[in-house]
Amino acid sequence: MRRPISIHRSEVSRLPQAAFDHLPFGSIFSDHMLFATYGNGAWTHVEIRPYGPVSLPPSINALQYGFSVFEGLKAYRTVQGRLVLFRPRENWGRFQRSCERLALPSPPEDIFLDGMQELVRVDAAWTPQWDAGSLYIRPCLYAVDENITVRPPSSCQFVIFTCPVGPYYALPVNLLVSTDYVRAFPGGTGDIKPAGNYAAAMLAARRAQEAGYDNVLWLDGKERRYIEECGVMNIFFVIENTVVTPNLTGTILPGITRDSVITLLRDMHCRVEERPISIAEIVEVYEGGALRECFGAGTAATILHAGTNCAFVKS
Ligand SMILES: *Cc1c(COP(=O)(O)O)cnc(C)c1O
Repeated sequence: MRRPISIHRSEVSRLPQAAFDHLPFGSIFSDHMLFATYGNGAWTHVEIRPYGPVSLPPSINALQYGFSVFEGLKAYRTVQGRLVLFRPRENWGRFQRSCERLALPSPPEDIFLDGMQELVRVDAAWTPQWDAGSLYIRPCLYAVDENITVRPPSSCQFVIFTCPVGPYYALPVNLLVSTDYVRAFPGGTGDIKPAGNYAAAMLAARRAQEAGYDNVLWLDGKERRYIEECGVMNIFFVIENTVVTPNLTGTILPGITRDSVITLLRDMHCRVEERPISIAEIVEVYEGGALRECFGAGTAATILHAGTNCAFVKS
């Protein structure tokens, strides 16, 4: 069943033409957002309306207990000017898994995918030209039960909003291996995208920045030996002629950029290995001169190079 989406257009566009030249990441929002509500076992009120505040009481369980999940993907303009979404079905699948893990209802395909397409169409003017950036799309779902009893949520809101973003040029980042903190652990939520994962990782990121690094290189939670991710990105190493990345163990986020990088490299006949990589192995290949490159992969930055002193200082 495809629910009708009502569209309430904003009267004036806030489109900052000049700002397209120097887009900051994630703080300029397009004119509209998709908004849907879930209650009494059903999704209702699907609408596209002007981007703006939602009014909620402070007692809602999303705020009290962290019932909140999100996704991140991009729309691009092709050279011909057509609008395209990058692998949105993958994000929908992952969003469903995130919702399920937090005992939340997940929006059906017509709201998540068709709603997203419609929203991107309504705000088409907000997607930069192919060489000037892309439109970052943020679907999110949070529980709005006005009740502080700890139990699975029964009412939710689902929102999609978008931000035009510039191409991401960054200097190589320097990473600090975290031995005090872990991002994920077996049986936890490391392989999905709940809001709380990010909050729980922030102190380690701040400590790394205080020590002069850009972000954290995360090790596994059990043995603190195996490399998992860097910051909020998947990680790749080029050792001699082989590209290696940690295999998906349940504590690593299965990134869509990660999957795309692996697929493209294999198409190009590069050798790619998905396997456990210990920090000791990386130190060894670095010292032996076999470590050619190290980079992170994720939707926001796409590919982010790590500097050569990546991974070699412990906290
Ligand atoms: C979202 C995310 C990624 C990257 O996933 P993409 O689908 O490539 O954007 C990597 N690691 C973590 C922890 C994430 O939350």
